[in-house]
Amino acid sequence: MNEADSRHLSSQVEALGYVPTVNANEADLVVLNTCVVRQSAEDRAIGRLSTMMKIKERRPNMTVALMGCMVGMREAPALKKKFPFVDVFMPPSVTTPLLEYLEQGGLFDESILLETRAKAVRDAIQDEDYILPAVERGRSVTAHVPVVLGCSHACTFCVIPYRRGAEESRPKADVLREVRALSEQGVKEVTLLGQIIDRYGLDLDDDYDLSSLLRDVAQVAGIARVRFLTSHPNWITDRLIDTVAEVDKICPQFEVPAQAGNNEVLENMRRGYTIEEYRRVVDRIRKCIPDAAIHTDIIVGFCGETDEQFMDTYRLFEECRFDKAHIAKYSVRPKTIATRQMRDDVSSDEKERRRKMLDDLQSAMLTDKMKGLRETTVEVLVEDRDVKKNRWRGRTPHNKLVFFEDDRDLRGKILPVHVDWTGPYSLIGRAMDAVHLRGPAKVSEE
Ligand code: SF4
Repeated sequence: MNEADSRHLSSQVEALGYVPTVNANEADLVVLNTCVVRQSAEDRAIGRLSTMMKIKERRPNMTVALMGCMVGMREAPALKKKFPFVDVFMPPSVTTPLLEYLEQGGLFDESILLETRAKAVRDAIQDEDYILPAVERGRSVTAHVPVVLGCSHACTFCVIPYRRGAEESRPKADVLREVRALSEQGVKEVTLLGQIIDRYGLDLDDDYDLSSLLRDVAQVAGIARVRFLTSHPNWITDRLIDTVAEVDKICPQFEVPAQAGNNEVLENMRRGYTIEEYRRVVDRIRKCIPDAAIHTDIIVGFCGETDEQFMDTYRLFEECRFDKAHIAKYSVRPKTIATRQMRDDVSSDEKERRRKMLDDLQSAMLTDKMKGLRETTVEVLVEDRDVKKNRWRGRTPHNKLVFFEDDRDLRGKILPVHVDWTGPYSLIGRAMDAVHLRGPAKVSEE
């Protein structure tokens, strides 16, 4: 979400005449787009703000803007007191305060933000031409497209609903316009985003849902691959799974957070499903698409989680053989139900021990799973070149990272790669001529 917001804001400030620099010391404008989903992310943002404060002391005319979940829908006045050197505050996906500030010559006026908030419109994301920033135009092969903004669920550990606001689907025409514009600028793969993406369209008037949207996005000329995330076990439908199975361009990848493998912990988290229901979702996906990549999120050390309860998560992990897991140690987030009503009673050492156990298990399982790809040929969408290592980087439809050397300009091409080496998180191989590719995957010479 933040990447999509940053890309959008970059192109908007470019339209005002700004050009990018990688050196904050010479920048006229610095925007920090923040994530506060975990304490560590917030700490990093605060560290960056301290650096900005020092630069601003030397260069008082520099504009500093703070954006994203740290600002949320209501935090700006308190943040202004804490970080008075910050000129502009913007909630997630709302870029107008900075644009208006710059257009007015940089005079800070809190009423700009208040007025914007009062309108309660995530407006800037909805009515632009979706021009990529200059550095990305013709270079970016993949892009994220938010389709459901905010979240109306109330998982007890989660700060997102407080910072991104209530759930709201973007109109289909708007999403398709953005995807067409991205395709015209060289993008081949789009990932549709939502906190609970399966709920896309439930707040719109007609029966148009995520399956319909995925089919329409896959039809956009020039788009070769479509992904979507994040699913919620309660909302993922058979229709969605069938759609992924039926439409070649929709990648066979599902992001379904389990968060924990024990029913009592899940209830404390108010996730809204049991672990038996979660297993049924995984079974449904694997029955329909046997080789589907299933990714998950896990939180270890949630309030009151005992060692035995954690071991249920460990066993779930072994059983589901996930293709990737984001494993996070629980951290207290302000205003959440867990913070207000529960005790963060698992020590940080114990959280780290549980995280490491899952991490080690993941590495071992993935090492084993990826070995199955050795000496096979996989279909790769080539994304970028690592100039230092002189090799190309791309991904398979199952989202496996692949590296290979080749002197040709292959950016944006889909081609077969023979896998010579496998590790837990990546593959190394050789680009092949199209004729060597077997199976249903398609080769594009676009
Ligand atoms: S579904 Fe739960 S974890 Fe996901 S964004 Fe919403 S509240 Fe947070």
